[in-house]
Amino acid sequence: MLIDAHVHLDHYGESLRPALDEIRQNRIFTVSVSMDLSSYEQNLKIGEACDFVLPTFGVHPKRAPEYAGGLHDLSRWIDESPALGEIGLDFHWVEDATRYPAQLKVLHYFLAAAREQKKLVNLHTKGAERQILDLLEEYEIQRAIIHWYSGPLDLLNAFIDLGVFFTVGVEVLFSERIQAVARAIPLEKLLTETDNPGGLKWLRGSVGMPLALRDVITVLAGLKETSEKTIREIVQKNLLELTRGDPWLRNAHHQLAAGD
Ligand SMILES: [Zn+2]
Repeated sequence: MLIDAHVHLDHYGESLRPALDEIRQNRIFTVSVSMDLSSYEQNLKIGEACDFVLPTFGVHPKRAPEYAGGLHDLSRWIDESPALGEIGLDFHWVEDATRYPAQLKVLHYFLAAAREQKKLVNLHTKGAERQILDLLEEYEIQRAIIHWYSGPLDLLNAFIDLGVFFTVGVEVLFSERIQAVARAIPLEKLLTETDNPGGLKWLRGSVGMPLALRDVITVLAGLKETSEKTIREIVQKNLLELTRGDPWLRNAHHQLAAGD
């Protein structure tokens, strides 16, 4: 099985049908993260239509100010979601620092729920890696996926020591910096993602499709000096490990275990 551990299927629009066809034909286990409530509602529908899709609820840091004043209204969705994401902080692309307190408030709320409900989190850390590291420790988060890590390498090592997992995605095709990050991530903590459709669109200007994963795997195999098959197997095993014993992710775990 291929693994796309961070993607925004609700953003595909008219390309959704071909994207889901690719997911089914290639057996891509897909974690479709949400930006906000309406995004999650769409992802839930997509999850109903495709067995390979795991929809998760989160409020993206860019959307945080709209939700910070009414967090209790989100409880129902947080409680029913099998994992939480996309959540996190963005102190880089969001340049207006007056929005940071709302980001922090929302993230604290989600991390408290993750701790209480023992849920896996899918994190955005751009420009706020140090703060996220401290919060993961504060909330004793046991299982986290950090998506598209691009921060300093010394903090990457601190995250590795905490036991988090990392997705590497399409930027590894273009960026030496991300290639250095990918080299530094131990194989047993490595996952793959596309962050599509926006990931490739941002980098290359065209809508990214799920099978972009194959290119990511090819580059990772080169960086890790191993075969593509080994990367595929290790990434599948890593997600299996992350979902083991999690009652919210039992179906996902069985599906991954049946794999290929
Ligand atoms: Zn994302």
